Amino acid sequence: MALSALTGQHKLKSILAEEARSRHAGTYIIAGAAGMGRHSFAEEFAKALMCEDPGEDGACGKCKCCNYFEGGTTPDIVRIDAPSDGKSIPVSDIREKVVSDSVIKPQFSRTKVFIINIDHVAEAGQNALLKSIEEPPANVAFILLSSLSGNVLDTVMSRSAILKISRYTEDEIYEILKSHDAPGDENDLRTICAYCGGNPGRAISMTADDSFISLSNDVTDLLLGLGSDSYTDILTDGSRFFADNKSESDMVIEIIYKVLGDILMYSTYPDREAATENASKIRKFALENRHINSIAIGRCKNAVTDYVKAMSVNANYDGACCALMIKIHEEFKK
Ligand SMILES: [Zn+2]
Repeated sequence: MALSALTGQHKLKSILAEEARSRHAGTYIIAGAAGMGRHSFAEEFAKALMCEDPGEDGACGKCKCCNYFEGGTTPDIVRIDAPSDGKSIPVSDIREKVVSDSVIKPQFSRTKVFIINIDHVAEAGQNALLKSIEEPPANVAFILLSSLSGNVLDTVMSRSAILKISRYTEDEIYEILKSHDAPGDENDLRTICAYCGGNPGRAISMTADDSFISLSNDVTDLLLGLGSDSYTDILTDGSRFFADNKSESDMVIEIIYKVLGDILMYSTYPDREAATENASKIRKFALENRHINSIAIGRCKNAVTDYVKAMSVNANYDGACCALMIKIHEEFKK
C-alpha cells in the first residue's frame, strides 16, 4: 500500500511524500476528528519516513525497511494509542516508551518513528515529551494524532508542523463506503454521504445503523411540511416528533441544517442533479417555493443557531423545538 491507496486528501499526501523525500525528521501533528483517517495517514507517513527510497507516492514498498514494516516486524516504530478504558496514557509510558527510547538509534530504518495519540496524553505527559520535541534526536520523527479540540499544549503545538485532514467530498466518502463493503443500496449510501459531515468513519458507523435513513426521511418530510402546517399541527405533531427523537436531537438538528442548505442550493442551481430520493424531494420543494430565498434560509439558519444556544443553557427542550418550528413555518408559508 502507498499513499495513493488512501482516498482523497491530495494536498496532504503530497506534503507527506515531500517531507519523507526531503528526509526531514521532527514533529508533526496529523489533525482531524476521529473517523477522518488519522491512523491510516500516520502509518503511511511513518512507512515513507522509514523507507530507504521514498517517492512521490510515499514508501517504495520494495526496500528492506518497507518489507519489515509490512511484515509488522520492524522494531523502529512505536505506537502509543489511547488506552481502551478511556483514561489518559500514563506519563510513565511517555518517559519509558518514548523519551528514553527516542535516544536509541533506529535498528534498520532510515528514521525511527513514534506515533502518539496526543489527545490522550495529559499535561504531565506532554511536558515530559516536550524535551524530546525541543531537541529531537537525529533520525527520529514524532507523529502526533489530534482532533485539535484544545487539549494539546501550546508549547507542543508551536514545535510541530500541523497537517490537517480536510473534509472529504461526498464522492470520496461513497468510494470509501464501497471499498468497505458497507451495507445499503446506492440511495441509502448516498444519503449517508450527504449527512456524515465529510467524515468517512462517521459514515461507516451510520451504515451499521438502519435508523439513520428513516430519521433523515422523517426529518426532511417534517421540515418541508412546516410551511403548510397550522400552529396546532406544529404544537402537536411536530412537538411529538421532537419528543420521540429527543435522544437523536443533535442529528435531527444537523439534518435540518443540511436540508435548509440544500433548499437554497437547488433554488440557486435548479439544474443540479439530485443523487437521492430525499434530494429529489428537496429539489422539487425548492422549485415550487421560490419565495424561500437566501434571506429566508438565512433567518431559518439563525433560528437553528438560537435553538442550539438555548439547549446549551439547558432551556426547555419542547419550548425550544416549538420556537424553531414556528420560525421556520413563518419563512416557509406562502
Ligand atoms: Zn521502501
